[in-house]
Amino acid sequence: MYNPSDIVAADVHERLSDRHVLLLTDYDGTLADIAPTPAEATLSESVRLELAALAAFDDVTVGVVSGRRLDDVLERVGPAAEYGAGLHGLEMVGPESAFHHYALDSVESVIARLARDAARELQWCPGVLLENKKYALTCHVRLAPPELGDRALEEFEALAEPQLEARTLKLLTGKQALELLPAVDWHKGRAAEWIRARVVPRVDRPVSIVYLGDDRTDEDAFTALGDEDVVIGVGDRPHTHLIDWRLAGPPSVGRFFARLADYRRGAAEET
Ligand SMILES: [Mg+2]
Repeated sequence: MYNPSDIVAADVHERLSDRHVLLLTDYDGTLADIAPTPAEATLSESVRLELAALAAFDDVTVGVVSGRRLDDVLERVGPAAEYGAGLHGLEMVGPESAFHHYALDSVESVIARLARDAARELQWCPGVLLENKKYALTCHVRLAPPELGDRALEEFEALAEPQLEARTLKLLTGKQALELLPAVDWHKGRAAEWIRARVVPRVDRPVSIVYLGDDRTDEDAFTALGDEDVVIGVGDRPHTHLIDWRLAGPPSVGRFFARLADYRRGAAEET
């Protein structure tokens, strides 16, 4: 009886046994189950331990790449993540450097005003959750009645129409959510490149990225990867030919981490 996680781990190990693995992973829907509210999406103890075991190898580096604020996602993942990217890569940190995209500060006042407007204008819809990330604003309708949620999202988009037309802000579509962000050509693919460029000089082997993600925004990263990298889609959502493997959800991802650690350990013992 083969578990899909075991098959993926065996293949990744075989392809990358002589390379430094840069494991980049999304958080929500990939490491942690999607919860009714973003605050409730916590990492399970088993996935935390499995990720930490993998991060302990000298030839494995872990980074988390999320739409959440950087501090928020780093706190949720814990010390296993040596690199972190928040707001889809607009803010990043690693052991030797940090990055804060210049466009963030220019949208701060616009986001603050839209957060106030949206809170007032969307009061009619029960279950709407506005997540103010200071430089980005997300409208979640997971807890709203479905027929009202769609209308709330339409109104949310309409409120930002002037900023979207002026290309001050751009709109990202999430799972039962819309997000307003600075309209710059920056995404999780840029984050993956930024982190790789910092890991390469620190290690003595060629670096391959293993990227795990469950959402549309993760596809920007998948596109930025090369033949020596591995793309793992989580859940049924990312539909792209760029995916090498698919895992069902966070528990399967945890098991993949554990099996990959077993394989790396076996390889280490052989030599
Ligand atoms: Mg996700």
